[in-house]
Amino acid sequence: EKTTVILNQSGIERALTRIAHEILERNKGTEDLVLVGIRAGGDHLAAELARRIAVIEGEKIGLGAIDITMYRDDIGSRGSLPVGRTDIPFDIDDKKVVLVDDVLFTGRTIRAAMDAIIDLGRPRNIQLAVLVDRGHRELPIRPDYVGRNVPTAREEDIEVEFDANHQPREVRLIKH
Ligand code: 5GP
Ligand code: MG
Repeated sequence: EKTTVILNQSGIERALTRIAHEILERNKGTEDLVLVGIRAGGDHLAAELARRIAVIEGEKIGLGAIDITMYRDDIGSRGSLPVGRTDIPFDIDDKKVVLVDDVLFTGRTIRAAMDAIIDLGRPRNIQLAVLVDRGHRELPIRPDYVGRNVPTAREEDIEVEFDANHQPREVRLIKH
């Protein structure tokens, strides 16, 4: 097994700060903007982005979280992804919803998250921010904001480490 550090803590922080600016630039500020993180991992990153956006613009934006239960030990039949606990404490009608996740792989989790969002109302649009895009898409989904593109083999893994305060610490590529 070989481990390569892709992003250290300051690299992650710079990437998140850049993405916060990109989100604000593309959306021309915070009006009707909300963030929804995908548990577990994406919710902590969404909180970090919301914190940065509040610092940059002086405005608090809506922050939600969504659970997509994945059967990672059953990779052959990951077609069905039941949606678990959703915590979106605001109306999403006409909102610009930025989904946030740690790692984008086949795109199936994002598809399920979009279904869950659309079940709740009619957002103006849905955008996607990810810390790592590791490739291997199986659906026509692409991220709008990317921390780092990391070409991977299917059997490799990306590890995203968070500390006890849910602060992202390190992103590693694991070759088995
Ligand atoms: P997808 O549904 O796109 O195949 O997989 C994305 C989801 O599974 C994300 O929620 C992500 O957290 C998780 N995931 C997929 N591949 C990896 C990986 O290599 N490392 C980590 N940490 N999570 C992954
Ligand atoms: Mg995750």
